[in-house]
Amino acid sequence: MDKTTQRAYAKINIGLDVLRRRADGYHEVKMIMQTVDIYDELVLEKRKQPGIELCTDNSELPTGNDNLIYRAAELLFQEKKITEGVNIKLTKRIPIAAGMAGGSADAAAALRGLNELFDMGYSLPELQALGVRLGADIPYCLAGGTMLSEGIGEILTPLPAPPAAYLVIAKPDINVSTAFVYGNLHADRLTWHPDIDGMIDALQKGDFHGITDKLGNVLETVTVKAYPVIEEIKELLRKQGAENALMSGSGPTVFGIFREEETARRAAEAVEHGLLAKQIFVTTFYSREQRAK
Ligand code: ATP
Repeated sequence: MDKTTQRAYAKINIGLDVLRRRADGYHEVKMIMQTVDIYDELVLEKRKQPGIELCTDNSELPTGNDNLIYRAAELLFQEKKITEGVNIKLTKRIPIAAGMAGGSADAAAALRGLNELFDMGYSLPELQALGVRLGADIPYCLAGGTMLSEGIGEILTPLPAPPAAYLVIAKPDINVSTAFVYGNLHADRLTWHPDIDGMIDALQKGDFHGITDKLGNVLETVTVKAYPVIEEIKELLRKQGAENALMSGSGPTVFGIFREEETARRAAEAVEHGLLAKQIFVTTFYSREQRAK
């Protein structure tokens, strides 16, 4: 094989709790991750000259060692002592610095693609063990679907997918650094925690309203305070018929969950007309089963 095309799916968090800050500075989390049907595309092609060449249609992104795709390739090339080279072309659709794990998804797709292209023979758990060295969300992105994520994000337990729904995903025109949000979170002073166990129970029962009622993200306490537009989008989505709405990850992306596609489309238009967000998607959940096809 000389060439492979890989999709890198974005995620949202339907539940995100932070349990404590560890002595080493990492935060211990308890999150429910969910893949959505928004993806970047990576085309990986072997070449004779050694080295890694990355190009992308998004001029905001670095194409050298600062890009997680590049680092993923470097890591596998070192591990397997690869002397050939690779050209990687990234088509970027996932909003950047948005709380949707775009960089981690790209790194996971690069690991998967290079493993195939160079017949490296890594199993999924082996790739996950390599991926976590580059970022805590990469093991999840390699697996995808609905997962409980614990530890620093690397302890994964598969969960049933939520019942089918339509999502409006809106990213206001601000970039939020994950480091800023965790840096300003006082995990020991949180007075409220989302009901992650209740959410797991609702997923297991396929209880749509149980799921939408329990949406919760402790990082909103930091990001919404800094950027009130997040709360405005949530309120507008609910007013427009969303069962509920939440900020994803460290933000600023907001999602609303809808029963009907038509209602979701109208809500997306309302967000656009209100000039609250520039990047707006109407999409669905994406499951591991769909990915296996
Ligand atoms: P998370 O949900 O994991 O916090 P995020 O959506 O907030 O992720 P990303 O879009 O993954 O944030 O990346 C944030 C920063 O990482 C960007 O400022 C960007 O320069 C850098 N970066 C490195 N590689 C990539 C990549 N392949 N795609 C996007 N950003 C990348």
